[in-house]
Amino acid sequence: MHIEENKSLKNYNTFGINHYARHFVTITSVNQLKEILKNKLYGQKLILGGGSNMLLTKDVDTLVMHINLKGISITYEDENFVHLKIMAGENWHELVQFCLSKDYGGIENLSLIPGNTGAAPIQNIGAYGVELKDVFLSCEALSLNTKKLQNFSLEECAFGYRNSIFKNREKGNYIITSVTLKLTKKNHNTAVAYGAIQEELEAMQVVKPTIQDIS
Ligand SMILES: Cc1cc2nc3c(=O)[nH]c(=O)nc-3n(C[C@H](O)[C@H](O)[C@H](O)COP(=O)(O)OP(=O)(O)OC[C@H]3O[C@@H](n4cnc5c(N)ncnc54)[C@H](O)[C@@H]3O)c2cc1C
Repeated sequence: MHIEENKSLKNYNTFGINHYARHFVTITSVNQLKEILKNKLYGQKLILGGGSNMLLTKDVDTLVMHINLKGISITYEDENFVHLKIMAGENWHELVQFCLSKDYGGIENLSLIPGNTGAAPIQNIGAYGVELKDVFLSCEALSLNTKKLQNFSLEECAFGYRNSIFKNREKGNYIITSVTLKLTKKNHNTAVAYGAIQEELEAMQVVKPTIQDIS
């Protein structure tokens, strides 16, 4: 694991602001994450996903941990549903594209939301009448206190509008390492009630929209 010093964060935040991190590490495995959290040299840490919801106003005088855990796997599937476990560093929009390519339904309305999957539960991302919670099964998160992985169910996440336990009671206490979603393989529950979607589908003269049309 390579810890860099005085690293420019220009390429790690959507605004392209050129502030520097005193220490910077890219995390590519859960074991690395556990190891670095045990290291007492670095006190406070800043968790960085895709950097789309971060406005850097000055240099960061701590360790910036860029969560770059990768991988998408099927943990369960039957005729109708698939459960996908997505590691935190997977880009959200690329995940939507992946699901569309497999004809997995449920997150097509959430196309083009910037950022990574690990940050999605924090504010219960949503768009066009659909929220993450509608397809969310669970997530795994590493506790900064116990340094152990914990599983959070839908109920435990206490999702609300752009809100969750990770923004409230447990703010700053966990690093989300993966998210598991329940998606449809057929008979997709397409959500088209949102005005802008309806207008666009009408303009496209689509009567029975597919999840690809909605995206
Ligand atoms: C142009 C634009 C459009 C947007 N549109 C929408 C929209 O339609 N709907 C919507 O819901 N949101 C929207 N957002 C907000 C943004 O997409 C979400 O907040 C997204 O989840 C941020 O992901 P990120 O990986 O970039 O997070 P970052 O910016 O890297 O981090 C955001 C916060 O989450 C924390 N964090 C990041 N990853 C983890 C992790 N793995 N574990 C624990 N904490 C973590 C960070 O410490 C930070 O506090 C938009 C943002 C922009 C800039």
